[in-house]
Amino acid sequence: MIDISFEVNGRKVSPNNMGNAIEAAMLSSIKDSVSQSVGSIRCAEHGQKPKIKAKGRSIDSLSLEVTGCCDALIEQVKKKIT
Ligand SMILES: [Zn+2]
Repeated sequence: MIDISFEVNGRKVSPNNMGNAIEAAMLSSIKDSVSQSVGSIRCAEHGQKPKIKAKGRSIDSLSLEVTGCCDALIEQVKKKIT
């Protein structure tokens, strides 16, 4: 499972703790699409999985930040999700 977290307007949220069902569904669909595109990626050198953070001022303007063990992994993930 992909490691993804969400931060909306400076507040950490997750599909499970959104009070609003529509917003929860939006987060879930982002999570699903990111999982599908990068879920199987691991660093060839370090065996690590990337971490994704979806961050933005509002839930419909989230951009994805990628972190990982090294630049090669981050580049590989960015190619998939952008
Ligand atoms: Zn690495």
